[in-house]
Amino acid sequence: MAKTMFEKIWDAHVVLQRDDGQTLLYVDRHLCHDGSFQGYYTLNSQGRKMRRPDLTWGSPDHYRPTDAQSLNDISDPVLREKVALFDRNAAESGIHYYGLDSKKMGVVHVIGPELGITLPGIMLVCGDSHTATHGALGAFAFGIGASEVAHVMATQTLWQRKPKTMRITVNGEVGFGVTGKDVILAIIAKISAAGAAGHVVEFAGSGITALSMEERMTVCNMTIEAGGRAGMIAPDDKTIAYCKGREFAPKGDKWARAVAYWKTLPTDAGAVFDKEVTLNGADIAPMVTWGTSPENGVPVTAAVPDPNSESDPVRREEIRGALEYMGLAAGTPVAEIAVDQVYIGSCTNGRIEDLRAAAAVAKGRKAVIAARVVPGSEPVRQQAVDEGLDQIFIDAGFEWRLPGCASCLCLNDEVFAPGTRTASTSNRNFMGRQGEGVRTHLVSPAMAAAAAVTGHFTDVRTLEGNK
Ligand code: SF4
Repeated sequence: MAKTMFEKIWDAHVVLQRDDGQTLLYVDRHLCHDGSFQGYYTLNSQGRKMRRPDLTWGSPDHYRPTDAQSLNDISDPVLREKVALFDRNAAESGIHYYGLDSKKMGVVHVIGPELGITLPGIMLVCGDSHTATHGALGAFAFGIGASEVAHVMATQTLWQRKPKTMRITVNGEVGFGVTGKDVILAIIAKISAAGAAGHVVEFAGSGITALSMEERMTVCNMTIEAGGRAGMIAPDDKTIAYCKGREFAPKGDKWARAVAYWKTLPTDAGAVFDKEVTLNGADIAPMVTWGTSPENGVPVTAAVPDPNSESDPVRREEIRGALEYMGLAAGTPVAEIAVDQVYIGSCTNGRIEDLRAAAAVAKGRKAVIAARVVPGSEPVRQQAVDEGLDQIFIDAGFEWRLPGCASCLCLNDEVFAPGTRTASTSNRNFMGRQGEGVRTHLVSPAMAAAAAVTGHFTDVRTLEGNK
């Protein structure tokens, strides 16, 4: 019977099936971060040991202030203890660990693919909802709760109910100045923040396969913002080339066997998905969100919607409430919205290609508002330094920080001033996400840099010299 890629990976990981519909799945690889302390607490309080520390990787990302080189530099005692606790838990459990002084540390969803921890066909979990990122390599990857983290730590397995399947096809490549971030924002705007609820989404079509590996990660990262359980893209030659030679990717004979297996993973012709959605790549423009949900996205050339033109009364009130929080009048052209600050980083857009795209816009220009750039990992930071991107940002008046989650979640001191407006490359624009009353607009790295040098949302395709 023809199978989807998800079904093939699911079937390969089944350990046990219960009559109530729950299935016990084997977990190939597990990622931890400094917010995984509850999992460790449960494990330790039950007197259990981690079953497969060799299949567990971790790095402190959420609580690390991105101006702190070491534990001693973290002035806030609560944040310092969060990172120190992870240091201790990691050492005691014996996982692969990249602390603040490691050249491999970073946001776990950036270092996973970077180190070859993420591979096609594997099942990967982490106590963080944006674990969907790793599906870009053809893995079944998703976020889990604290009690599930403890279960994985103790057993290397996880009980799950099988999700439905959905395919989102983007036909035709996107145009100049349009990126993977714009593709996923356009998808979420089309299907809504609940459009993929209960489904594992496979992204397909020439508009997806033409994307770089890093853009594919951005797309899968935000699957969760459409309610999807996981996002995935079939492995192809680009995926295989990306994995080759990475530290935890197979080597020698194992590499050839792995590649042969990966080539069997793409969805069979004739396989049926529970839901299908199609978009045209040529119709997608650089996107900007105007509201308090990632589904509130429009092209930069459009205007903020008018709630009065919405026929559904519930939706009308949602738009009204979002515009009130965002301090925006209905009908305002997006390009006329002034921005107070810019944040470039996160597991969505903190990779080297993202920094290159932002630096290409910043080069030779000056930021007219505050702008912060946070690499997603230490290897990304180092690569950016080697390419001179850090100096481009510094010369343009951008702030250049150390790797971490930083102003994506603001669990540290990188919160923005109340009531201010941010152009952010992160993945969530919820009320208060970046600080009390802070108004977050989601954009691509190039669009964020364009806002930094103009002070308002600007169609990056129209910036002089940006060709
Ligand atoms: S960068 Fe943001 S979304 Fe990504 S793991 Fe960190 S806090 Fe979560």
